[in-house]
Amino acid sequence: MFKQIQRKLTIQYAAFFVLFVLILMIILYIAIQTIMQQQQVQELKMFYTKEQYHLMGDNIERDQEIESDQTDRHEKELHDHTTDEEKEIEYDTNRVYFYYVFTKKHELVHADESLIGLQKDIDRLMLQAKDGEPQSVKWKQEHLLLIKYHAKSDKNGNYIIVGQSITKQHRLLERMMYAFVVLTMIGTLFITVLSHYLAGKAMVPIRRSFERQRKFVSDASHELRTPLTVFYSSLEVLESDEENHFSSFGQEVLDDLKEETQHMKSLLEGLLFLARYDQKKLKTKKETIELSKIVNNIAKSFERTLPATITLKLEIEEGILFEGDETSIRELLYILLDNAAKFTEQGYIKITLSKLKEKIELVVEDTGIGISDNDLPNVFERFYQATKNRQKKGTGLGLAIAQAIVFQHHGQITVESQLQKGTKFTILLPTVDHN
Ligand code: ATP
Ligand code: MG
Repeated sequence: MFKQIQRKLTIQYAAFFVLFVLILMIILYIAIQTIMQQQQVQELKMFYTKEQYHLMGDNIERDQEIESDQTDRHEKELHDHTTDEEKEIEYDTNRVYFYYVFTKKHELVHADESLIGLQKDIDRLMLQAKDGEPQSVKWKQEHLLLIKYHAKSDKNGNYIIVGQSITKQHRLLERMMYAFVVLTMIGTLFITVLSHYLAGKAMVPIRRSFERQRKFVSDASHELRTPLTVFYSSLEVLESDEENHFSSFGQEVLDDLKEETQHMKSLLEGLLFLARYDQKKLKTKKETIELSKIVNNIAKSFERTLPATITLKLEIEEGILFEGDETSIRELLYILLDNAAKFTEQGYIKITLSKLKEKIELVVEDTGIGISDNDLPNVFERFYQATKNRQKKGTGLGLAIAQAIVFQHHGQITVESQLQKGTKFTILLPTVDHN
């Protein structure tokens, strides 16, 4: 149980840490990326503002001349620009910024580029771009930051695209992201180990007080058992003493006392059994027992106690042997049959014992009042009694003891139930020697 809590705590701590670090890393990454991008855009804008006249000046002057000329001359001039395009492009792979000047008809006028071949695609890349709005585009293996401007002084609609390669910064961000991921992974591993250790440390005092509490229950049950037995025997002596003549009221009180003492006795027995199970002090014999025979015998004597409204059905495979503690197995059967009888008004109770491939299956089912879906997951808990059945006598320890016996024999116990239809307990026990 403590190991399970420790594991749960470790997982929770680690999950919180991952979530926290992940959010932190994402915020950090976005912040760095935004700052870098803003810086790049600002630099690019500054480059344009500073060089604006120099970049577009020639063309503005030229365009102004063209404006005063004939239209066909203007077109010829533009045509000349396009044909002489190659001459007007300066390549400089070392430069940080580059630019391209286009006419309104998307013909290249003048350019200074650092990425050879970009001129063919640049206009297409920026076709949808709005004036002065920075665009991050991917071109081949490069990441570019581009801005398109229509110069205010240019009446002919010429425009310029200024740009800068941000591939290096992009790679840097990428590497940073990988580093973040690796750091998060290492951190998670470290936190997992640390939180496992810390959860274990925190568990020590809890475990101690829990053990103390268990020991107290065990000691108290043990101490109470003897006086209770004495008390019960005294009641019996009192009852059988011929010199005592009780009135009918006195006899009633005596009977009540006996019944309550009996109830307390079985409660103490149950508590003691579970305390021993918790402290792993329960001694379970390992002897070969004839399970088929035991179940048959118990069923026969149980049948005699059943009211006429309930029939007992048996489906018991002959010759099934089991290795375990006979007294515990008998107790297990009593608990299940007692419940079945207690919570069934009419119909039948059926016991099935069969040998599966590697398991022995024992099923006890009834056509009783059933257990609601809300109660069903809790019936194996100590002192749990379904709300509807509280008026029935019982300690609420029966099924907890049954489960402990099954676990002690390395088996499984499950329950299925439907209100007003019935309940079915299935027990699977190992056939082979498990040690
Ligand atoms: P005890 O067995 O200690 O005398 P109990 O029978 O109330 O007391 P459990 O045997 O542990 O306690 O059962 C727990 C609860 O599960 C019961 O109170 C009852 O509500 C429900 N239950 C168990 N078996 C059946 C059954 N066959 N049909 C309907 N309800 C059941
Ligand atoms: Mg019971």
